[in-house]
Amino acid sequence: MNNLLKIIELCEKKYKNENVHSLNTKNNDSVLDILIATKLSQNTTDKTAFIAFNNLKRKYGKLEKLMEERISKIRDEIRICGMANTKAKDIKNILKKIYRKYKSFDLSFLKNYSTEEIYNQLLELNGIGLKTASCVVAFGLNRDVFPVDTHIHRVLNRIGLVKTKTPEKTFLEISDKIPEGKKLFFHKCLIKFGRSICKARNPLCNECFIYMYCKYRNKSEYKNKKAQNRNPQKYDFLILENIK
Ligand code: SF4
Repeated sequence: MNNLLKIIELCEKKYKNENVHSLNTKNNDSVLDILIATKLSQNTTDKTAFIAFNNLKRKYGKLEKLMEERISKIRDEIRICGMANTKAKDIKNILKKIYRKYKSFDLSFLKNYSTEEIYNQLLELNGIGLKTASCVVAFGLNRDVFPVDTHIHRVLNRIGLVKTKTPEKTFLEISDKIPEGKKLFFHKCLIKFGRSICKARNPLCNECFIYMYCKYRNKSEYKNKKAQNRNPQKYDFLILENIK
């Protein structure tokens, strides 16, 4: 068995009791909600992005209303999640493009398309990248795909499962190698793993369950840094699992 399959198997054992398998059923607004939540979650924590998302939902209800809203007003509601001005502009632009193309904000019709065609439709909107499209496909449209953000890109390169320069290239390199039915599960596992064990700074190699399959050249050095590794923090909250 190659390292990728072995690591997926070990993730299944490690995270089997956590609710990372389920694909949630969402309502018709949720495709757009997931898209906007993904935009809000860029370069911040899921917790602050979730607060910003809830601020918007509380104030506007249907987020399509943001298309007509002033950027400064949107910015005030999402300030907590950082880069508020850029994110407010991006959200408005994406909404305009969606409306120009479909004359509607209800993207639930995409459920009838093949996964490949959904990607094509979203990427054609220009302003939606591969990562955002993948999150929409996975969490909004319940497809088994493997979104790659900067954290997953970092972890996979460190382990040595890929050797790539960008999250997009990581996605293209590894996605088809993950067995069908396990892609979204593996995505969620790696998010949790990257936050709690294989952290960007000071990875907890001394308590890592995939240590023997990892090719990180400094892993033995970190394995011995036990004092530094006390009290590991656990970050389990994933925003896209919590968009109803
Ligand atoms: S051994 Fe260390 S670097 Fe390798 S995956 Fe585990 S925590 Fe990350």
